[in-house]
Amino acid sequence: MLYDNHGREINYIRIAATDRCNLRCYYCMPEEGIKFLDKNELLSYEELERLLNILAPMGISKVRITGGEPFVRKGMIDFLETVSKVNGIDHLHLTTNGTFSESMVPRLKAIGMKGINLSIDSLDRKRFAKITRRDSFDVVWKRLHQILEAGIPLKLNTVVLNGQNTEDIIPMVRLTEKLPISVRFIEEMPFNGVGKREELVWNHVAILNHIKSAFPDIEKLKDPSFSTSFNYQVKGSAGSFGIIPAYTRNFCGTCNRIRLTATGVIKTCLYDDGVFNIKSFIRNGATDNQLRDAFLELLANRFKDGHEAERSRKFGRPISESMTTIGG
Ligand code: SAM
Ligand code: SF4
Repeated sequence: MLYDNHGREINYIRIAATDRCNLRCYYCMPEEGIKFLDKNELLSYEELERLLNILAPMGISKVRITGGEPFVRKGMIDFLETVSKVNGIDHLHLTTNGTFSESMVPRLKAIGMKGINLSIDSLDRKRFAKITRRDSFDVVWKRLHQILEAGIPLKLNTVVLNGQNTEDIIPMVRLTEKLPISVRFIEEMPFNGVGKREELVWNHVAILNHIKSAFPDIEKLKDPSFSTSFNYQVKGSAGSFGIIPAYTRNFCGTCNRIRLTATGVIKTCLYDDGVFNIKSFIRNGATDNQLRDAFLELLANRFKDGHEAERSRKFGRPISESMTTIGG
């Protein structure tokens, strides 16, 4: 098992496999002017596979592929299949905007995908289009049901956006009454590629109070180990919902994850500005042993929490980078 300098077990890596995306969610990236990476600036699938073959025996058993939009990168489904076969990776997950082709659903099922997080910020087609700057609600809604029919565990990610989709909070909770899904309401973070954002209005307390006003007797569920969400259920529902205090950051005490950005940089906290350029290290000829040592060194120097990590930032203060290179 791997532990960091604060005694936290580390067993999870999130990989942003591309920075490109076919949507333009305003809270994630600007509509225009984004300079996407060239193909050779991304770690190749072979480089990623090598890293996972090093990390799995060290104690990393869970991988999430995210982006950008993973399926915008060519060969993604074959890569997912490769990852599913890495010895020791027992939990392969995907975060997606759900615009991928229908034919992918049975393949995702066949490779044993342990869970999909589908981002959907509104149940209303017009609001969805305003937030994502693309009219893709219908296809995402279809994929949602196809994933459920295939029996792949499904979570919905909904960023709560002041003045944009708060009218969707209650209908989203209602959806969990009928469908075996977990909706996760996420506090908006400043990773929007622009940098400016008003003070957070809809924090986790405001979200919960709003839900309680419509469902006074929701039940608190036991949060799974390493969970970043506080989980609840409306009595008798098929599904459940969670609230992620992504900006408030009061889950850091059990943080079990590291991130690999699309630029090939390791982040040991979402709020740091990148602690090690592993792509350069690999491309300068690092051996497997040197890579192992580098990971151990990084884990021996992790920030206590997201606030300390943010204070440590050398380049990007205040935070302004887009989530599309980080992966959420
Ligand atoms: N394109 C995929 C998707 O949208 O699911 C994967 C990448 S996206 C960057 C991963 C997650 O980050 C999504 O659930 C998205 O809503 C969330 N996200 C992006 N920008 C965010 C922000 N500024 N604050 C909170 N969550 C954000
Ligand atoms: Fe694309 Fe996901 Fe960012 Fe939306 S949140 S722009 S779908 S990467």
